[in-house]
Amino acid sequence: MITALAGGVGAARFLTGLIQFVEQEDLTVVVNTGDDVELFGLHVSPDVDIVTYTLAGIVNDVVGWGVRGDSFGCLGMLKRFGEVDWFNLGDRDFAASILRTKLLRAGFSLSQVSAKISSDLGLKVKILPMTDGKFSTYVRTSEGVVHFEEYLVKRAAQDEVLGVNFVGMDMVRPAVGVVESILSSERVILCPSNPIVSIGAILSVPGIRESLRETAARKVAISPIIAGAPVKGPAAKLLHGLGVEVSAFGVAKLYADFLDVFVIDSLDVAEKGRIEQLGLQVVVADTLMKDLPTKAALAKVVLDA
Ligand code: GDP
Ligand code: CA
Repeated sequence: MITALAGGVGAARFLTGLIQFVEQEDLTVVVNTGDDVELFGLHVSPDVDIVTYTLAGIVNDVVGWGVRGDSFGCLGMLKRFGEVDWFNLGDRDFAASILRTKLLRAGFSLSQVSAKISSDLGLKVKILPMTDGKFSTYVRTSEGVVHFEEYLVKRAAQDEVLGVNFVGMDMVRPAVGVVESILSSERVILCPSNPIVSIGAILSVPGIRESLRETAARKVAISPIIAGAPVKGPAAKLLHGLGVEVSAFGVAKLYADFLDVFVIDSLDVAEKGRIEQLGLQVVVADTLMKDLPTKAALAKVVLDA
């Protein structure tokens, strides 16, 4: 059994490589739900959907989210009605959110809904939201406090970050199966995801970090930072805003209390010694995922580490 902790795009790309080697039935993916947002009265789960669509082979891999070839008729009409126009949701994407909202209203949990959607899309991987409770990531910026998706999409991550609020953190529990999966796995993988708002959000759910410290699993993380910069997304602004060094070392420090192995990019070989001094084993590899072979090669490194 393998458990992976995942955000959206970076994680989904890595997991595509991982399932080349690991039976889907043997993989549980615990996904960040801090980005979940209510739009048009619907419960949208961006990271869960990205991971699900990607593993199901239907993601729009040009942008990394949404369904390949999707149309935007519904959103276009909503815009004419003067509705929120900053979030991109394709018609097929809407369908997933409509179903999710319908089932949540009928009393099903977010994990039950995620399981149904992923199995209907043909997946055998277990996709678990980090929590079934209400948890929302807000970013404190020079312009005010905004939901993470609003910061990322509407404001294009332009504002200076002063801090991050995990609203609901103290009230939620890990979804059923999350802690159990971490405790019973041989390996726990922290995907190359945003260390603050994706992996950081998952680790902030009471009980998850403790289970990582407790489990006998080998815990391996891949640095999302290569040569002092994220491959994509606002990780640098968030790390900087929280006073964390924007480097593989800075990320390693965030996980050092429970991690065994940190996989860094060949470009960061100079950081190896510093990270080892945190008490971690360091593996140096090519971590830029360009295509299926590079994704698979990285997965192999992580499985052998
Ligand atoms: P989001 O939820 O869509 O923002 O995606 P994630 O939480 O998965 O975070 C994106 C992170 O993935 C960024 O920090 C990127 O640097 C990282 N990432 C994306 N592609 C790659 C890659 O090819 N290699 C590595 N090492 N990191 C990557
Ligand atoms: Ca995300």
